[in-house]
Amino acid sequence: MLSKQAAKDALLQHVNKHFFYSSTPAKEMTVTSIVPLSAWHYTLESFTEQRSTRETLCNDGLDRSLNGAPPHPWDVHCTPSTEFMSHQKVLEIPNTSVKKSCNNCNGRGYKICRACDGMNICCHCHGAGLAWEYHGTNTRRVACRTCYATGHVQICLGCKTRNGQITCSTCTGKGSLQYYTELVVKYTNHVSEYVLEKNGIPKDKIKGVRGQVVFQQNLPCVEPISQHSEQQIIVNSMRMVNDHRQAWPGEKIIKQRQVLRSVPVSEVAYTWYDCNQRFWVFGNEREVHAPDYPYQHLWGCNVS
Ligand SMILES: [Zn+2]
Ligand SMILES: [Zn+2]
Ligand SMILES: [Zn+2]
Repeated sequence: MLSKQAAKDALLQHVNKHFFYSSTPAKEMTVTSIVPLSAWHYTLESFTEQRSTRETLCNDGLDRSLNGAPPHPWDVHCTPSTEFMSHQKVLEIPNTSVKKSCNNCNGRGYKICRACDGMNICCHCHGAGLAWEYHGTNTRRVACRTCYATGHVQICLGCKTRNGQITCSTCTGKGSLQYYTELVVKYTNHVSEYVLEKNGIPKDKIKGVRGQVVFQQNLPCVEPISQHSEQQIIVNSMRMVNDHRQAWPGEKIIKQRQVLRSVPVSEVAYTWYDCNQRFWVFGNEREVHAPDYPYQHLWGCNVS
């Protein structure tokens, strides 16, 4: 039970955090009554798993000779690193190695040089054997000096080869690429919260303060809370558990956790001049909710 002095101290601390608030009312007020109450914070978490596959290029050079049929994605052993934390794991499914023709070179292992078109045509005269020579405004055609008027070169300047074939960089000349199937396991933690608070304290503030855990359950599949003095907790626990059972059809629920916390709330009534107001102290930290605090002397209360 909160004492009158503790209630005033909590309010004074709250007022001091607000630059524009005057601390005079908090210092001078008379606390007339304190009523102990409770707020409730219920959390339901569903930790789910989703599996998908994708084809991946092997580039580690490891031998992946097949040794039987590949397992079904759901038969591959995989466990989460941490429960109730969203994360992803990627594994190689054994016996899924497959060779496919390289689409960059159409399986040839090389590409034809564009400069010489694979025929070592002279880049300078484009195979004509004659090239233009410029003398001021006069131009004339002369025998090409690059290819000695043959139209062909021994080694192409573009591809530096004799046959115009450039090794394919995608498959490094092999003409084929090796792929395997990867299993992507996505673990997601879905969290739903419900706050029962009847005095107008913002629900997010109730979620953020400490209280007492009165019920906690961690099971593959939880049942909703069925007994509680507050009917709203039973109704909302049932609604949330049912929602979670249907919300993610592509995901498998592997663990559920439900926690019900009771957060202490004290309703404090006070008088200051002709002002009769209430404020609330909540959470083990003694946070304050005082929307009607007469922080400006001319506002709300007659002090003259
Ligand atoms: Zn030439
Ligand atoms: Zn070339
Ligand atoms: Zn290739």
